[in-house]
Amino acid sequence: MGQDTRSEAAQEYRRLYRTRRWRDVRADQLSRHPLCAMCLPRVTAATVVDHVIKDSKRTEEGFFAGPFQSLCKTHHDSTKQREEKRGHIIGCDDDGVPLDPNHHWNR
Ligand SMILES: [Zn+2]
Repeated sequence: MGQDTRSEAAQEYRRLYRTRRWRDVRADQLSRHPLCAMCLPRVTAATVVDHVIKDSKRTEEGFFAGPFQSLCKTHHDSTKQREEKRGHIIGCDDDGVPLDPNHHWNR
């Protein structure tokens, strides 16, 4: 399955991921949060800057504004795959409130 069969939105993301601006945002996030947020307290170097809230990627401003979390590739891939399967966002904010706006806590 080639990458070209993916949606227009995915192509737009790929374009944004190639911008200088994204490289700066990514470098900044990884320098401030160099460890995988999901491996903690185990120490693993993060290599992926993940958009915590998928919907924030829908606009170009949101794409560069975040919020972000630093993840290792393993956690990034597994989390995204699970989210896609379940159709909701995994995780919660600093107050312990689930990030998913469709979670019953947020209704
Ligand atoms: Zn990890």
